[in-house]
Amino acid sequence: MFWCDRVDVPAPAPQLVDTVEADLAVIGGGYTGLWTALQALEDQPGLRVVVLESEQCGFGASSRNGGFCDSSLTHGLANGLSRWPDEIETLVRLGRENLAGLKSSLERHRIDADYRPCAEIEAAIEPWHLESLAEDVADHQGLGDDVDLLDAEQMRARVDSPTYLGGMIRHNDVALVDPARLVWGLRSTIEGRGAAVYEHSPARAIKRQNNRIDIRTPGGRVRADHAVMATNAYPGPVRRPRRYTIPVYDHVLMTEPLSAEQMASVGWAEREGMGDISNMFHYYRLTADDRILWGGYDATYHFNNGVGAPHDQSEKTHPRLAEHFFQTFPQLEGLSFSHRWGGPIGTTTRFTATWGTSLGGQLAWVAGYTGLGVGASRFGARVALDLVYGRQTERTELKMVRKHPVPFPPEPARWIGVQMTRKAIQRSDRRGGKRGAWLNLLDRFGVGFDS
Ligand SMILES: Cc1cc2nc3c(=O)[nH]c(=O)nc-3n(C[C@H](O)[C@H](O)[C@H](O)COP(=O)(O)OP(=O)(O)OC[C@H]3O[C@@H](n4cnc5c(N)ncnc54)[C@H](O)[C@@H]3O)c2cc1C
Repeated sequence: MFWCDRVDVPAPAPQLVDTVEADLAVIGGGYTGLWTALQALEDQPGLRVVVLESEQCGFGASSRNGGFCDSSLTHGLANGLSRWPDEIETLVRLGRENLAGLKSSLERHRIDADYRPCAEIEAAIEPWHLESLAEDVADHQGLGDDVDLLDAEQMRARVDSPTYLGGMIRHNDVALVDPARLVWGLRSTIEGRGAAVYEHSPARAIKRQNNRIDIRTPGGRVRADHAVMATNAYPGPVRRPRRYTIPVYDHVLMTEPLSAEQMASVGWAEREGMGDISNMFHYYRLTADDRILWGGYDATYHFNNGVGAPHDQSEKTHPRLAEHFFQTFPQLEGLSFSHRWGGPIGTTTRFTATWGTSLGGQLAWVAGYTGLGVGASRFGARVALDLVYGRQTERTELKMVRKHPVPFPPEPARWIGVQMTRKAIQRSDRRGGKRGAWLNLLDRFGVGFDS
């Protein structure tokens, strides 16, 4: 996987082989778990924090993603507006504050995650996208975003693809990061502040005993006053989130570095974050060494919440992504891909995170950011800390936090439902965006499937 294929991958943290006492135990060493630890240590310096990670920190989505760091807490403005119209202004403001807080944390702790504010462009590649973009522009402007509509010529002057019919550019509240360096920087910052990180130490069992949380790993045990479970798409030791979140696999290709000539043929001088607005969309960006990361399109659910290495490579999706890449950039024909991978996204039926508490309120959990968790996971962690310490805040009053999404049905209905929805989404893209009976029914109940 490209982001971890580097010489400066940090040395592994030790495995837990003992019993340790903690004030706060964190299960999962992705962004959510690491931001939980960091924000807890900033709130209360000297807190005894232990992080348990089943593989190595960032093993999950956090070091495999596209690095689009967006202020949205609601998987995009349109989704937030449709679900929480009366709270959208607060959600947008909290999202902007979260992104500003993330940036200042990186500066304060000197975390070099190649954080680079940039514009984001959503490309229209089918005639029906143009109408939908015009609505999006009005929504964004209504909430104070600095957005413009671009015609085909203006699009191609920025990034040259014959597929572009138009686009929307947003100039504010988006950045690109280097995903793995963000993980590594967060890990070393919390270690520097006294947190104990244990890798290859999965939390296998958890219970409440004498008002403390008791977590067992294969080699050791953590006893803590409070705990936060941040295993997202993976099944953690507390079962409750499994009703609300399922893992869907998203796949990515990374090209070889482009030559100066190839770069000139594409343009892309301002290095915007790019995507199209099909239901089955692609997202793409440049890396620091002028490669193109190209991902998205299919979102694959494996029966019974399947996760694991066999799903990282897809003989169906990766070649299809390559085909779409060269349709978008025919001038790059012949360019090869150096890396291909996939990873599990935790999604809910409303495409945003969901929170809860268990074990007498001494454990909080959060999961389900869908495909927009790089920025939102810091907010997710902040809310989990509010919940586990019993703080009533503006955040905990949000409907998005207080109410759970519609749960997924148990298997086999879960798998059948997802497959029907994927097919209906594909059909909708083929039929000019017409939703069709199945998607209309789901829309009426406020549920869906996305990546
Ligand atoms: C291919 C891909 C592209 C993406 N692109 C973007 C993007 O461009 N922008 C964006 O905003 N979002 C993107 N996302 C989503 C984003 O990466 C996630 O929302 C985010 O990383 C979630 O962080 P997390 O810490 O909650 O989960 P994870 O990073 O999955 O972390 C969970 C951790 O828990 C560990 N774990 C599991 N079980 C246990 C256990 N029992 N005990 C201890 N540890 C355990 C796992 O090993 C894992 O490290 C993408 C995701 C993927 C897969």
